[in-house]
Amino acid sequence: MTRLTMLIDVQRCIGCWSCNIACKQENGVPPEVTRNELFFVGPFGEYPDVKGYFLPRPCMHCEDAACVKACPTGRATRTAPGRC
Ligand code: SF4
Ligand code: SF4
Repeated sequence: MTRLTMLIDVQRCIGCWSCNIACKQENGVPPEVTRNELFFVGPFGEYPDVKGYFLPRPCMHCEDAACVKACPTGRATRTAPGRC
């Protein structure tokens, strides 16, 4: 089975959890299980100059990934076969 590459631009992730919810809904994932982790990395710096970012970590197993389609910011895309 062809495995496509999923590219994630963490600068565009707003931490909305839509990818996680779409994955659960489309794939029947039970509440106590997740295939799409979402972390907050940080905070870095000192107040008032504090920064951090969200880090989504989908499993990347679906050929037609609900987590990619659900993202409102377009942070994730899939490449065509043979491209990176
Ligand atoms: S690739 Fe599929 S199973 Fe994996 S996180 Fe995305 S929607 Fe869920
Ligand atoms: S990757 Fe997209 S859908 Fe998932 S939390 Fe970030 S902005 Fe929301």
